[in-house]
Amino acid sequence: MRDVVIIGSGCAGNTAAIYTARANLKPLVIAGHEAGGQLSLTTLVENFPGFPEGINGPDLVENMKKQAEHFGAEFQHGSVVDADLSQRPFRLNIEGEWMETRTVIVATGASARWLGLESEQKLIGHGVSSCATCDGFFYRGRKIIVVGGGDSAMEEANFLSRFGSEVTVIHRREEFRASKIMLERVHNNPKVKFLLNTVVEEIFDVSEKLVTGVRLRNVKTGEIRTQDVDGFFLAIGHVPNTRVFKGQIATDPDGYILSQGGARTSVPGVFHAGDVQDRTYRQAITASAAGCMAAIEVERFLEAEGH
Ligand code: NAP
Repeated sequence: MRDVVIIGSGCAGNTAAIYTARANLKPLVIAGHEAGGQLSLTTLVENFPGFPEGINGPDLVENMKKQAEHFGAEFQHGSVVDADLSQRPFRLNIEGEWMETRTVIVATGASARWLGLESEQKLIGHGVSSCATCDGFFYRGRKIIVVGGGDSAMEEANFLSRFGSEVTVIHRREEFRASKIMLERVHNNPKVKFLLNTVVEEIFDVSEKLVTGVRLRNVKTGEIRTQDVDGFFLAIGHVPNTRVFKGQIATDPDGYILSQGGARTSVPGVFHAGDVQDRTYRQAITASAAGCMAAIEVERFLEAEGH
């Protein structure tokens, strides 16, 4: 029987691990299928306090993990595939093996959103990607498309312009969610051009198992055009990873955990941390802070129960 199992190993999970380990609760962290979370997919992080020169995302999250391990946190590969939160102790199924725990911190984050086109799904890994950092290198001197109008799309467009011969940002409207500074950087980048009010209707060519082009539609004029492309990158936001808790923890209609104040979920003893609950701030620093809050709540919860 564990005192606390932390599900997820991004900033939120790792910070919760540091705090619960230092409180002598011997946390077990289930790393999940995207170990390290969103930071492991990014490059330079310039806004995490304490690093005046910036720090690489994967290094930052790896440092947090080491720090947690230093205080006795254990990390386990794999994902939680099933959960029973209806009674205590809670039961979690990790890749087929059930374990029991007095408390749970859900720090499962949010995963990349896809357009949902059949061709897109069939071409993932064959020219379609949701991770510029992982796959940008393969498109040296090639034509690249980035879909999205938020900070991620701007960051990816800039990053991919290091590799591609040209980068086209495709966005479904004229207004951007991206911050001014990020947008300005991309506007000043001569390799990047924008196609606004435009949606992707189809990605070619599934029969060749390779991205060769796209069919685009201008949502204002209805004009349809095709464009050659080699690398197709999605940056259209994220979906919270709460599927295994469906019906057990209260969520909003999109699946984000509804906070009951602090780090509390609708199930006493189950706490939330990070992007799985936060659709507003979604920063490394806010996820870490949420991990800290969840850990402190776990400590107090266990103490109140006499453990
Ligand atoms: P986001 O801000 O939610 O933006 C998602 C973008 O994708 C929006 O422009 C949205 O269009 C578009 N989109 C969503 N679904 C779509 C669909 N089905 N088809 C076409 N377009 C679609 O997500 P994000 O860019 O990933 O950013 C998430 C958070 O992380 C933000 O708070 C952001 O500031 C932060 N972030 C910060 C940095 C940084 O500071 N270095 C870098 C990356 C991300 P609409 O606008 O029309 O809805």
